[in-house]
Amino acid sequence: MLEDSQQSRTKLSELGEFGLIDLLTKNLQSKLPSTIKGIGDDAAVLEFKNKQILVTTDFLLEGVHFDLSYMPLKHLGYKAVMVNLSDVYAMNGTATQITVGIAVSNRFPVEALEELYEGIELAAKIYNIDVVGGDTSSSDKGLLISITAIGMAEKKDVVYRSGAKPNDLLVVTGDLGAAYMGLNILKREKEVFKANPNSQPDLDVYTYLIERQLKPEARKDIPPLFKTLGVKPTSMIDISDGLSSEIIHLCKSSKVGANLFEEKIPLDPSVISACEEFELDSTTIALSGGEDYELLFTIAQQDFDKIKANPHFTVIGHMTEENEGMHLITRANTKIPLIARGWNAMKEEEN
Ligand code: ADP
Ligand code: MG
Repeated sequence: MLEDSQQSRTKLSELGEFGLIDLLTKNLQSKLPSTIKGIGDDAAVLEFKNKQILVTTDFLLEGVHFDLSYMPLKHLGYKAVMVNLSDVYAMNGTATQITVGIAVSNRFPVEALEELYEGIELAAKIYNIDVVGGDTSSSDKGLLISITAIGMAEKKDVVYRSGAKPNDLLVVTGDLGAAYMGLNILKREKEVFKANPNSQPDLDVYTYLIERQLKPEARKDIPPLFKTLGVKPTSMIDISDGLSSEIIHLCKSSKVGANLFEEKIPLDPSVISACEEFELDSTTIALSGGEDYELLFTIAQQDFDKIKANPHFTVIGHMTEENEGMHLITRANTKIPLIARGWNAMKEEEN
């Protein structure tokens, strides 16, 4: 996990906006040939030869998308980048640049923002992207981070949500539900800490879950893997809100139905045991938990042989004619309609 250090406290007003921008961006040197001009002019200049350009934006708002009492700022910076890159990979593209807008209240010292940028820098390094601009503003309430990611793909490689056909296989990368269970652990520890600030929690058994919540990784590896395997998905989406709502998005865009098999949903053993501990149903968590940042896609049946031996992929169902609807086939072999309950909806239920 990333470490967190917040020793000295320099007031934002001591630096001013331009001093702050200079400080935060001093390590962000551009490295990609497609970045002609990065930070430092009125606009970045990018050049892509014979490529289609992918552009996506997400913002994260304190109190809505994150809680700084259990989200260290370095992790927040890293995660804010992941959330955006994931959308580029979901188009089967290569992420190349991001811009970063932040609005901060002066309750944050300069050092806190430096930590945020350490996370952004780390993500930019590992994922080989350039930070080519941004905007910096004050905020009278919480912290806001808005990231725009830019990527590219050859026209023939771009995968939309809309291309799934009846009988295509429904496939997911990685495993599901861990990020949401990580959030549950962190929330519980926050309450324990409030009640007893001297408690020393032993969180080792939850490492995987907490990492999936605090330091998710976008699936940069998957688009090149498709190339290697000679497979082009017929449709694709990233799993930010939970499996069921993403399946529904694919089905609606592609005008097809789907059957999802409960017994096929990939779960890490630590998710299963945490669900037992919290008395939650692990299928519900995988369906509605969200923030997994895995990829969900469909492939033609004849491509099955190309992916079947790959440990990154699990076939979890298949597409049907639209009029057959969208269903979960349970372990008991009953068929229940899939409903969209993203993690936002779950949050409201809890309140
Ligand atoms: P402008 O007045 O044109 O908006 P700014 O003074 O806001 O310019 O920004 C100067 C440069 O620094 C620009 O290249 C801008 O993209 C970049 N920049 C501003 N804020 C950030 C930030 N938070 N992160 C990265 N780059 C930033
Ligand atoms: Mg500006």
